[in-house]
Parts: sequence; structure tokens; C-alpha cells
Amino acid sequence: MNPTTLFYILIGIIIVKFLFDTYIDALNSKHYNDEIPNELKGIYDKNEYLKSQEYKKVNYKFSLFSSIFSITTTLLFFFFDGFAIVDNLAQSFSNNSVIITLIFFGIIVFASDILTTPFSYYKTFVIEEKFGFNKTSKKTFVLDKIKGWVMMAIVGGGLLALITWFYQLTTTNFWLYAWALISFFTIFMNLFYSKLIVPLFNKQTPLEEGELKTAIESFANKIGFKLNNIFVIDGSKRSTKANAYFSGFGTQKRITLFDTLINDLETNEIVAVLAHEVGHYKRKHIIYNLLLSIILTGFTFYILSLLVGNLTLSQALGVESASFHIGLIAFGILYSPISEITSLFMNALSRKFEYQADNYAKEKFEAKALISSLKKLSKNSLSNLTPHHLYVKIHYSHPTLLQRILNLKK
Ligand SMILES: [Zn+2]
Repeated sequence: MNPTTLFYILIGIIIVKFLFDTYIDALNSKHYNDEIPNELKGIYDKNEYLKSQEYKKVNYKFSLFSSIFSITTTLLFFFFDGFAIVDNLAQSFSNNSVIITLIFFGIIVFASDILTTPFSYYKTFVIEEKFGFNKTSKKTFVLDKIKGWVMMAIVGGGLLALITWFYQLTTTNFWLYAWALISFFTIFMNLFYSKLIVPLFNKQTPLEEGELKTAIESFANKIGFKLNNIFVIDGSKRSTKANAYFSGFGTQKRITLFDTLINDLETNEIVAVLAHEVGHYKRKHIIYNLLLSIILTGFTFYILSLLVGNLTLSQALGVESASFHIGLIAFGILYSPISEITSLFMNALSRKFEYQADNYAKEKFEAKALISSLKKLSKNSLSNLTPHHLYVKIHYSHPTLLQRILNLKK
């Protein structure tokens, strides 16, 4: 294929994806004023409902504006040979392909982060602030940025350097080594993320003795589940929105409850949320998700290995000689339609798992408490009660509130 044709195929993929996303967002926004289903009536009073409508609209406009900005800068970068310019710059520092790759991606990632920072600043300090969600101080915001960059440089840079090095050493077989590396890293992170990474950003304390802990222990005894690691995280440092999650397996399994969740919900509602999280573990969702992501990674690296050395990929982006980092960029775009499809599948699976975890909580604890906790959590985050079904299929990792309540009431 000639490089110019490939260039326009890449541009085509970027534009089609943008148009499709914009269409689905617009479709979803057309349904903000739909009548609220009977099951969900009474979640918001009139004022809260108006506030939630306003919140949805503000977020919709904001995301439309930021995606237009993002596609404009991306297209400008493509048409003005941005990759070739950054490649030249990186080549001027070193002849070593590992170092060139690191400098190349360092510049691109850092520059795009700087460009998007005003957007995340606006989202946090204007939109979330206006609706009373924001608790992030300016200092936390800046520190988060800096910590994020350092982590990215060490972890992201380290992995990228190793993968580039594998490619240099083994060319066609590099995907096997890269796959092994990322698989190991994924499992390691699942086990130790809470211990190694979370403390850089948040404080976690073991759940203290009291009514809640007693209630949780009696539930854990009833189902014969060892629950030694229940931690409370200071989510209130950044936002009033609440959450809970399960991570790790074996001796590293733990449940993390946001302090905001504990503030917002009654004891039996929190136990219901916890029962749902235990359901994820009991139904082996943690392991299935890990396995699937490892299989997908292998598949992606394999396809990458077939394409990355191709000279046309580099030439399409204005670089004369084939190089790993340029090939990686072109591959990333060519592969994006496939990753859209896999993410569709992963979201469908995730929604299926959510039903299973809900069913577990219904069976082993009670449906009523879970329903009231879900309603409260939706209300407190001003969530959309009438999303469009296509939007749900594409973006939702959880079934809608209505779907979950209907399932719990079955
Ligand atoms: Zn869940």
C-alpha cells in the first residue's frame, strides 16, 4: 500500500470514531428529559431533579467542546508532520532506539497532558465545584499531576523501554516477551496496587471497631468468608462522590470503602454494597477479568508484531525509515476499531458480572438494602436516570439503575 493512502486511512479512522462518539453522545443527550420510569420516581425531589438535568447538560457541552478540541489538535499534528518533527528531535539526542523511543513518547505524552490539563482543571474547579462535588484543593490537584507524571515516567517508561529492547533483540518474537512482561505486571498490580500505588494518593485505614464492623463481621461469618482486609479510603479528599471496590486475590484480597460511602449510607446498606463486592470475588470475576485482559494483551501484541516493522507505517506518518515508536503510533490507530469492539464485549461482560454480584448480595444478604443504597448513590452523584440504550451498550460497565432494581426485585 502506498504511504499516502495509509495516511488517509488513519485520518479516516480518527474522524469516523469522532463522529460516531459525538453521535452517540448527542443521542443520549436527547433523552435527558425522558419521563422517569415508575421504579425510579421519588429518587430526586423537584429541585434535585432540575439540578441533575443541569449537571448532565453542562457535562455534555463540556465533553463536546473538549472532544472537538482534541480532534482538531490531533488532525493538525498529523497534517503538519508532527510525528516526524518529534522523531527528528528524539533522534538528535541519541542513536539508541530505546532512548529514542523514550524521548519520543515522553514528549508526546507530556505535551498532550499539558494540553488537556486546563480541561481537567475546569472540570474539577468549575463544573464539579458548581454542583458541590469538588473537595480537591489546588494543592492536591498540582501534587496529583506531579505524582502522576513521576509514576508514568517510572512505570510507563520502564515498561516501554523493556518492550522496545525486546523488539531490538528478537524482532518477530518480541511479542511473546512483551506479553509475558505485561501479564506479569497486570497480575502484580492487581495484587499490590492497593499497597504500593494507592498510598501515594490517598490515606487508607483499617475499618475501625464499631457498629459497622460488627455488622460486616456477622455477615462474613454467615457466608463463611474471611474478610480481614477492609479498608476505608479518604475519597472525601477529592470528591463527595462515593464508591467501593474489591481488589486482589488469595491473601491479598481486600475491600476498599470510600469514607464518603460510609457517610452517605446506613449500616445495612453498606453491608449490602459489601455483599455485592464479595459476590464479585465469590463468582471469580477478579480472576476472569485478569485472564481475559491477559489473553487480549497477547492478541494485541501478536497483531502488533505483524505490523510494527512495516516501512509503510512509518512513511505514512512522514518518517522515512521504519522505526518501532512510529510503527507503534500508526498501529495504535489502525487497531482502535478492533479495540472498540473488544471494549464493547468487555463492557457487556462487566454488566453481566454486576448482575451476578447483585444476585449474590440478594441471595446472601438482602435486596432491599442494596436497592436503597443504589438509589442513594445515584441521587448523590446526580446520575442520569434515563440513559439511551445504545449509550449504555457502548459506555456502561454497570447496568442502569433501573435494570439493577428490576433485577433485584425479581
Ligand atoms: Zn460491582
